[in-house]
Amino acid sequence: MIRQKKIAPFLVFTILLALMTPVSADIVYLDTAKMSEQSITKELLKYNITQKDIDYYAGYGISPEVILDVESKVAINKKMSQVIKDAPYRPLILADSDEKEAFIRHIENFSVSETEKKDMINSLFDIWSRAPNKITENDYPALEKIGKEMNTYFMKIYESDIESSKDDTTITPKWGGTWGGKAHGFFAYYAVMLSVNNQLWGDIAWTYALNPDITDTGYYDRYYGHYYHPFPPINGAAPGKCLLNINNAVNEYDTNKNQAYVDFALASHYLADVGNPMHTDGVIDQYQNQAAHYAYEQHVNVSWSSGHRYNDVVSSNTQYIVVTDPGVATQNLAKFSNPYYDTLWNEVTKGMHQDTLYQNANIEYMTRVLVKETSKYVNGLAFYLKNS
Ligand SMILES: [Zn+2]
Repeated sequence: MIRQKKIAPFLVFTILLALMTPVSADIVYLDTAKMSEQSITKELLKYNITQKDIDYYAGYGISPEVILDVESKVAINKKMSQVIKDAPYRPLILADSDEKEAFIRHIENFSVSETEKKDMINSLFDIWSRAPNKITENDYPALEKIGKEMNTYFMKIYESDIESSKDDTTITPKWGGTWGGKAHGFFAYYAVMLSVNNQLWGDIAWTYALNPDITDTGYYDRYYGHYYHPFPPINGAAPGKCLLNINNAVNEYDTNKNQAYVDFALASHYLADVGNPMHTDGVIDQYQNQAAHYAYEQHVNVSWSSGHRYNDVVSSNTQYIVVTDPGVATQNLAKFSNPYYDTLWNEVTKGMHQDTLYQNANIEYMTRVLVKETSKYVNGLAFYLKNS
C-alpha cells in the first residue's frame, strides 16, 4: 500500500507549470502512446527488435510500447555529452515526464527544511530546462545534493520494505548481491550443464558462484572488484578478476576438474556482476548511498524463482557468446549493460517500493534482456574452459 502524502500548493502549481511548459531542450523522448502499432514496429527495427522479439515479450505481457520506450531512451542516453556523463547522479538530468513528477513528489517528503525543498525543486526545473545542451559543471553541486538526499529518503523506504517482507528475511543486500544473490549460482550451474552436462560440477559451480560476495572485503575487492565502467573514465577490476580465476581453472582442468569448476564459479561471478548496469556506473554516487542498487537487486532476487521467474530466462537459454579472452568478454558485457543504467536508475527511483518495481514493465523488460545476455556470456565462459 502506498500512502499518498498531501503536497504543498506551490508544488501543485510548479508541477502543473512544468508539465504544461513545452520542452525547449533536446531531450525529447518518444511519446509511444501517440504512435500507431505499425510505426512502433518499424521504429523497433532500428534497435534490431523484430516481430519475433515483439511476440516473445508479448508472451510476458510486455508491450511493444514498453520495449521502444526503453530502447529509445538507451539510444538517446548513449549520445549524451561528457559533461552530462560525468555529472553526479546523472540519471536525474535525463528523467522523462513521469520521473520528473515522481522526483518532485519525493523531494516534498525529504527530511529537510521547506526552503531547502524549494531550492532543490527550483534547481531541478532549471537543470531540466537547460538539458542537455546547456548543462555545465556548475550544476554538479545541486545534482549531488539532490541525489544524496534522494538516496537517503529512498533508503528509509527500502529498509521499511525489507522490514515488512516476511518471506525474504535471509537476504543481506550488498554491492556484491548483484542479481540479488540467488542468480549467481544459477548462471554458473546452467552454464556448466549446457557445456559439459555434469551434475557434480554443476552443483560445485552453483555452490561457489556467490562466494566472492562473502570473501571479498574492503573497498578495492568488494566494490571496485565487482565493477567495471566500460567508457571514459574507464575503471573497475571485474575483467581482471574474471581472467585471474578462469586462468586458474584452465590450469587445473586436466588434473583436478572439481577445483577447476570452483574457480570457474568464481570467474563467472565477476563476469555476471557487470551484466547488471548498477555494477557499471555511478560508482561514487553508489558508494555514498546504494538505495536504488539495493532495491533493484532485491527486486531481482524476489522475482527470481517466483513472480516474473527470471530464472526461467537462464534455464531455457541455450545460446552462448564465443569467448576468446575472458577479460575482454567481461568488458563487452559491461558495454552491453551500461547504457541501461540511466533509465533503470530512474525507473527504480521513480517507484521506490518493491510492489511498484514489480509492476513496472520497463524494469521487467530490461531485466529479461540483461539476464539473457548475462546468461549467454556465462555459458560462453563455460565453453571457453571446456575447450581450453
Ligand atoms: Zn559481486
